[in-house]
Amino acid sequence: MYNTKVKDALDRPLRDLRISVIDRCNFRCQYCMPAEIFNENFHFLPKSELLSYEEIERTARIFASLGVEKLRLTGGEPLLRKDLPKLIKNLSQIEGINDIGLTTNGVFLKRYAKELKESGVHRVNISLDSIDDELFKQINGRNIGTKAVMEGIQAAKEAGLGVKVNMVVKKGLNENQILPMARFCLKEGIQLRYIEFMDVGSTNGWQMENVVTKKEIIELLQSEFEIEPAEADYFGEVAKRYRYKGTDTEVGFITSVSESFCGSCTRARLSANGSLYTCLFNGNGHDIKGLLRSEMTDSELTAHIVSLWNHRKDRYSDERAEGKNIHQEKIEMSYIGG
Ligand code: SAM
Ligand code: SF4
Ligand code: SF4
Repeated sequence: MYNTKVKDALDRPLRDLRISVIDRCNFRCQYCMPAEIFNENFHFLPKSELLSYEEIERTARIFASLGVEKLRLTGGEPLLRKDLPKLIKNLSQIEGINDIGLTTNGVFLKRYAKELKESGVHRVNISLDSIDDELFKQINGRNIGTKAVMEGIQAAKEAGLGVKVNMVVKKGLNENQILPMARFCLKEGIQLRYIEFMDVGSTNGWQMENVVTKKEIIELLQSEFEIEPAEADYFGEVAKRYRYKGTDTEVGFITSVSESFCGSCTRARLSANGSLYTCLFNGNGHDIKGLLRSEMTDSELTAHIVSLWNHRKDRYSDERAEGKNIHQEKIEMSYIGG
């Protein structure tokens, strides 16, 4: 059972923890780590600034004691962090944790899928914004074709991992991939989640006119497929899900821009450098690494985290929809991991 005592100022429980294990990535997706900024002069975190595996485990244990049951590992590219399966194995043994997910660009999945499954990962979300090879190379900024990702998807399926595909849709970039990606995922029986391009960080040049909304995507899908709404699974579910009629295959939408869902946001986020963010769009992380490296006891740290959550009032996307406050300083996606 969730510990319902840990609620924020807007009565939202604390249920999920997303952990960014690294700020580096082998891709330079334009909407996340544009190559002009994340170039050879960019200072990535030195190892000493990243949380160690022991520190991540200690933090996860504290969150589990507060009712968190779901963990998701992300990055940067989480599979670039050395010995990730070791961390996962230990996380999966924490009492109360019953669901571990990983978000990855999939390039290294062929190599790691089996080991990840064995270590305790339940589900992987694999990012793929285009099945057109040339366009994919252009988007990821590293001239890497779709083959490695496709092989990663197959390896994850074969290893018995739950697989979803994430596609960020940006107008003028890849909206011509909406239907080809739908066809591919339907054929593979994989849930595709269309993600509205978001104004995370301050380097991706976000503009409202580049957002392709759920409504626009659904209209396009309906030109070819019959889809019907699927029931929401649980409070705080982020994706709006639909099903292709006559199949078991679903398609989802992350509608952070057009239909914000702050009212049911139950997620805390731990950045690669050990700060806790109570909202994806917050610029002010709360330093946890410093506390983990101090004399603070577990119960003091637990009380501190409870207090941070109790004071949480974030509702950035709702405010954006209300036309407020959209110029605040924000954390980069590669630090916080989506
Ligand atoms: N490297 C891994 C990957 O790409 O899956 C994990 C980290 S990535 C930051 C996590 C997710 O955030 C990916 O699905 C990515 O597509 C999404 N993302 C990054 N920047 C975004 C943006 N500006 N708007 C919407 N989604 C974004
Ligand atoms: Fe890397 Fe993922 Fe960001 Fe692309 S979205 S640059 S793969 S962290
Ligand atoms: Fe949660 Fe912040 Fe996103 Fe709203 S904007 S859903 S509070 S992360």
